[in-house]
Amino acid sequence: MSTESRPTSTTRASNTSNFRGPDVPSPEDMYKCVHCGFCLQACPTYLETGLEAESPRGRIALMKAVEEGRTEITPAIVGHWDKCLQCRACEVVCPSGVPYGRLMEATRANVETVFKRGFKKRRARNIGFNGVLPDPKRLNRIGSALRLYQKSGLQAFARKTGAVRLAPGGSLEKYLPKLSDRFFVTSGQVIRPEGEVRARVAMLGGCVMRLTHGPTLEAVTRVLARNGVEVYVPETQGCCGALNAHSGERDSAREMARRNIDAFLDVETDAIIVAAAGCGSTMKEYGDLLADDPGYAERAEEVAERTKDIHEFLSDLGIEAPKGSLARNGVALKVTYQDSCHLGLAQRITAPPRQLLNAIPGVEFVEMKESLVCCGSGGTYSLFEQEMSLRLARRKTGNIVASGADIVATANPGCVIQMEQALNRAGEGAGVRYVVDLLDESYRLGDAAG
Ligand code: SF4
Ligand code: SF4
Repeated sequence: MSTESRPTSTTRASNTSNFRGPDVPSPEDMYKCVHCGFCLQACPTYLETGLEAESPRGRIALMKAVEEGRTEITPAIVGHWDKCLQCRACEVVCPSGVPYGRLMEATRANVETVFKRGFKKRRARNIGFNGVLPDPKRLNRIGSALRLYQKSGLQAFARKTGAVRLAPGGSLEKYLPKLSDRFFVTSGQVIRPEGEVRARVAMLGGCVMRLTHGPTLEAVTRVLARNGVEVYVPETQGCCGALNAHSGERDSAREMARRNIDAFLDVETDAIIVAAAGCGSTMKEYGDLLADDPGYAERAEEVAERTKDIHEFLSDLGIEAPKGSLARNGVALKVTYQDSCHLGLAQRITAPPRQLLNAIPGVEFVEMKESLVCCGSGGTYSLFEQEMSLRLARRKTGNIVASGADIVATANPGCVIQMEQALNRAGEGAGVRYVVDLLDESYRLGDAAG
């Protein structure tokens, strides 16, 4: 790929750009890239393909070509941008400070404004991003129906007979995660600690995690209360908008952010706790998302500042030492850790989850190779970019197995689901758990032992 020089402001003023509409990637951000290539070896899609167009530098070069009017936004270009996981590994290693996440989010939003996708994809996106995610009640109804489908034996029957392939969207059914027996409820409940109150927080339930990992969210409230934190779960909250924002659906993401800002600033709290890395990273960027909204810009910044990832919060607070051993038959449980991109890279939080794991008795912590390389989940990426997602899942499985771990711990529902499915497909026995679940288990075992 050739190296371009930065166009003059006159070039941009003459309106040659083929980015159009309200959400335009900033040329200033784009031209910070000096094409040094330091980011290439950090990029999962480049590691897999070795192709420049599947690298951060290549994707930025394509943005510049569109910005300078050298090309329209073509299906091939959209294909290269769509392959980006928005994991932000490139952002962390970039010496020029290219805000790649912001660039790609705006680019995706622009694509959705000026580029017409195929009917099937448009319909799927419209149902998911505009019909389901912004509506917690509808999401609950769909979750309940899918849980019934799984528990009634209908899923097993449909898979065995191949009937599943006849249903609309049947090819995606194999990616359906197991729904929790108990969904996490957001009803304005308050969970109070037994002794002195050290902090008061509000907590996000989210969308997918509430339905797929309800008991983990309950474990989060228990661990917080155990450590003297009063937890309030606002009833009027909803999905944080991360999946929409990352997919270029910025208007609906803004609506969802406004709803949460109203819900979370309704009461005075010390922090807003988020247990899903992708949601935490988006809420910390509400200020950017609503920067041009005079009614919400300031409050969006306030929510962003108050938002804390659960591991970050517990680590800053200082926790009561867990006492229950997770060793099995006297043998330490070998645990490795997968850095969820939106925790390790977007939020740059890598030490706290490891510190929590290391504090648990009976755990032998081992690092795995490439823990910061995306597992291929990427929000809706695993649905729309299946081939690359599966390649990255296989790469991750290989690294988990090579670590010798019994358990891979992580911090995001998408990663848990992706790694569970990948390990199952590979016939590997390692389990996948949230860090907080392991901590909660240790507290409970310690209590049971007296
Ligand atoms: S490391 Fe930064 S400046 Fe260098 S090519 Fe990658 S994005 Fe551009
Ligand atoms: S965000 Fe991740 S996948 Fe996308 S270009 Fe950067 S490193 Fe590659």
